Amino acid sequence: AAKVRSAGVMRFERAQDHYDPERLAMVGELGRAMAQDELVLHFQPKVALDSGEVTGVEALLRWQHPRHGLLFPDRFLPLAEQTGLIDPLTDWVLDRALRQLTALGLPPQARVSVNVSARNLGQQPFADRVLDALGRNGIAAERLVLEITETAAFADLERASAVLRSLDEAGIAISLDDFGQGHTSIGHLSTLHLSELKIDRAFVGDMLTDLAHGAIVRSLVELAHNLGLTVVAEGVEDDDTREALRDLGCDEGQGYGIGRPVPAAQLTEWLSRNRH
Ligand code: C2E
Ligand code: CA
Ligand code: CA
Ligand code: CA
Repeated sequence: AAKVRSAGVMRFERAQDHYDPERLAMVGELGRAMAQDELVLHFQPKVALDSGEVTGVEALLRWQHPRHGLLFPDRFLPLAEQTGLIDPLTDWVLDRALRQLTALGLPPQARVSVNVSARNLGQQPFADRVLDALGRNGIAAERLVLEITETAAFADLERASAVLRSLDEAGIAISLDDFGQGHTSIGHLSTLHLSELKIDRAFVGDMLTDLAHGAIVRSLVELAHNLGLTVVAEGVEDDDTREALRDLGCDEGQGYGIGRPVPAAQLTEWLSRNRH
């Protein structure tokens, strides 16, 4: 851990204009947080917009920090990405999500979505690590979705594409997250072995009042379907938006207006209240 930490600090300093001791301290603490169980997963339901059926949950990382309280990923993920800690972090999330899956009380076919940084795909062993995690936890590949969140451009598209192909061939669904917001271009849609496209909440949130955003959502639903992909709208905050998306033929929705991200026990309660 010391080696990771010192290498990380060096890279971090170079990437920043000024030295921020508090953020640097956090890098070291993040390594420990994994071992000391300060990290937790919250789960947010994804539902089919036509039937209301729960199709899965997305695992979202939280850090119960001893001094700073509950931290959301925007506070520590950028650091993890800059320092290489993102690899052990993704392994931790994957293992924990798969370990918790059976106890959540989901419908039998429902899946768990885990966020993966494009950086994680830089190495071929990533596919093996995912398959190991499935095997270790006795979970079928068909129950896992990997949401690729790209914060940096895909550094090595050919390698990423090869890793995603092995995962796809193993039966794992690949989802492209935040489409339209990041560095992903339309060309990536055909090379990343995708099964799902997630429309960024920046477009969904005000699609009923912003005409351009409404047009973008409509076009993305059509684009996804023309490519044979399932399309998921994130950031569904009210019933009007939910109905509009259903009328556009959007397959699935996720958002505060459907169900908030909550700890596992609360998700299980939510599921039993929403069973039909
Ligand atoms: P994301 O993958 O786009 O996840 C959706 C984010 O939107 C989550 O924020 C979720 O809490 C929030 N959200 C859900 N519904 C609504 C809504 O109706 N309205 C609004 N305004 N927000 C909504 P969160 O949990 O803070 O996560 C932020 C980002 O951090 C995620 O964005 C994802 O990119 C990243 N992230 C979270 N967990 C992990 C993880 O385990 N690994 C990696 N690599 N990234 C993660
Ligand atoms: Ca996501
Ligand atoms: Ca997203
Ligand atoms: Ca996002």
